[in-house]
Amino acid sequence: MPESIADRQVMATSLRTDACGQLRREDVGRTVRLGGWVHRSRDLGGLVFIDLRDRTGLLQLAFGPGWSPSDALATAAAVGVESVILGEGEVVAREADRVNPDMLTGEIEVRVRSIRIVGPAATPALPVARARGEKAPSEELRLRHRYLDLRRPELQQNLVLRHRLMQATRRYLCDHGYLELETPILTKPTPEGARDYLVPSRVHPGEFYALPQSPQIYKQLFMICGFDRYFQIARCFRDEDLRADRQPEFTQIDIEASFIEREDIATLAEGLIGALWREAGHEIPAQFERMTYADAMEYYGCDRPDLRYGLRVADYSSVFRTLDFAVTTSALSAGARVRGIIVPGGGAWSRKQVDELEALAKSAGVGGLLRLRKTDGAYDGPLAKYLTDEARSAFALNDGDLALFVAAADRVANPALDRVRQECARRLDLVDENAQRFLWVMDFPMFEEDPATGALAAVHHPFTAPHPDDMREFPDAPARWRALAYDVVLNGTELGGGSIRTSDPAVQSRMFALLGIGDVAEQERRFGFLLEGLRAGAPPHGGIAFGFDRIAMLLSHATSLRDVIAFPKTTAARSLFEGAPVAVPEADLAELNIAVRLNDGRKG
Ligand code: ASP
Repeated sequence: MPESIADRQVMATSLRTDACGQLRREDVGRTVRLGGWVHRSRDLGGLVFIDLRDRTGLLQLAFGPGWSPSDALATAAAVGVESVILGEGEVVAREADRVNPDMLTGEIEVRVRSIRIVGPAATPALPVARARGEKAPSEELRLRHRYLDLRRPELQQNLVLRHRLMQATRRYLCDHGYLELETPILTKPTPEGARDYLVPSRVHPGEFYALPQSPQIYKQLFMICGFDRYFQIARCFRDEDLRADRQPEFTQIDIEASFIEREDIATLAEGLIGALWREAGHEIPAQFERMTYADAMEYYGCDRPDLRYGLRVADYSSVFRTLDFAVTTSALSAGARVRGIIVPGGGAWSRKQVDELEALAKSAGVGGLLRLRKTDGAYDGPLAKYLTDEARSAFALNDGDLALFVAAADRVANPALDRVRQECARRLDLVDENAQRFLWVMDFPMFEEDPATGALAAVHHPFTAPHPDDMREFPDAPARWRALAYDVVLNGTELGGGSIRTSDPAVQSRMFALLGIGDVAEQERRFGFLLEGLRAGAPPHGGIAFGFDRIAMLLSHATSLRDVIAFPKTTAARSLFEGAPVAVPEADLAELNIAVRLNDGRKG
């Protein structure tokens, strides 16, 4: 991806006339001064070639007896890879048979007259220039030696794209009247559903700040203060058990606006995403598809369905009710449903392959996966001999189809069906890698009910407004309320989410009570600064936040968030390069009034 530096002169400094990757055929004849890293070098005995690298690209330097003094030739022959050199010479056209079409500078080279090693490099711990097909070093090694890893053109391009996406975000939002406003990093806990990172206060012994899980409350306060439209490219911190695609500190595009409804946020978000995708060279639909949360769960078993392929889940309970099949009959009478997926072509899978799918479903919590296959007009599977004509026509299997059913409560069946669906699509190669299926998932439930205790937890966060129709219709059944919350999903990945907020302090206080914070004094202690603000006159407001790292990852075709974050943490939440976290000297802890006591009984 070319960097957009309109004026090449911008890169000129006191030490160089040009950046390496920007020289072209029209520069032939010019004397240039350059600086960069020795990417590769080849000594052909009397003739030395160096590929010089800087962030703009690679350029071939040629050293030869006809034009390089002997000391320059000797220095070039001896300089180690990754050393930093300054050189001066003349741009010449390469012979036709030596043109390298893979290099932007491949039509030229610089015949060097003088060279100076200004930053000699120790032997690199990992190769920056990799030969075609050469195996990548382990990620652990790459992260440990990040100063070398980040020199690789691939990672440089990812970070350049990241920069451009940030600038495109700023441009788009500024053009739409949004103010870029900062919020504190040392703050009070913001409930986004994760654990807080705590920072001890030295001046207030025994007291702690929390790092923000998001700027949520502050951005609402900006609306209460009348700033009308806010955005921030905000760093957020969540202390979670890490999964492969999470980082404990991450960046989000955080947005809030006043006097708006859901449609306003939808239009803004579609425009912003369109601008970001355009920045990376893709045109996308101006409007995204829409689906309710209820439909997403019903037909895909998850709240971020991948619409690039079918394999929709259907409810076959009414068919199974007519069958004399003990397993499903007992599940149905216990209140479960029988739902399933019909997989065209799945009939060709071996028993072992279907067993593997069942193992996947079981790992998601269901007791089993009921299979039914139709080959050459005949049915096969435990259910086969119980089928009736009505059931056969209801399933409507074609030859070669495999039907997979789950008999369980939705809460358990959904994740199992979701996994099975994804795995079937992968096996059958149904995922169109070029498709971009953007989707709004709307009308999330307000609360999630703990099946054992009945306790309610916020699905989005406690500041989300419940759907007013549901509050009116089921005033005493909050577990049935939908929220004015929405997510943006692309191909099965959540890009962002947000909600319309509660702007009535009485409703907000009731939300806290439903979430188990009934005590008014406790509400004031934890959220007084928001409640006070709401009581001071709050406009209707709402917003959204997008995972910026994930967007940068998708648009740079990286496979890991760590490839679009300069200094990321490992999945074990460590930074291998700087070496964090670390134990700190006893004296530093004493100053903070902290004594370390490890939960496993060891002394810190
Ligand atoms: N604060 C939410 C989050 O970080 C986003 C929002 O509601 O705007 O996920």
